[in-house]
Amino acid sequence: MANEEEVFFETEPGFCPDCGSILPLLGEKGGVQCYACDRKWGPEVFGDMAMTYTLQFNDKNTYAPPDKSVENDDDEENAEGPVVDRKCSQCGNDKMSYATLQLRSADEGQTVFYTCTKCKFKETENS
Ligand SMILES: [Zn+2]
Ligand SMILES: [Zn+2]
Repeated sequence: MANEEEVFFETEPGFCPDCGSILPLLGEKGGVQCYACDRKWGPEVFGDMAMTYTLQFNDKNTYAPPDKSVENDDDEENAEGPVVDRKCSQCGNDKMSYATLQLRSADEGQTVFYTCTKCKFKETENS
């Protein structure tokens, strides 16, 4: 008997919609049977508690992470950056944007990537 009291005390119980008796705890199968009138009820008689549980469960099953594979392999599009006076050896345009990339350790210097603002021709220069 002591065990039963403890269980009822710890949880938010549901009540039988039919006879108003307190219901036993929600079982693993998602339903309960009223002790008093023997009717069976689904998890909805437990109200918010059961609803929350169901929602979380559904979220995990239906949520698909966004595809992140299209993130870092299009250098071609990244011609943004500061523009310097530099003559493009490809088309003769005298403006190129540049970006720097530190390669390996600091004492090996950095590589500067130039991109022609006109024809998108790319050059690199090690400094
Ligand atoms: Zn009942
Ligand atoms: Zn060019």
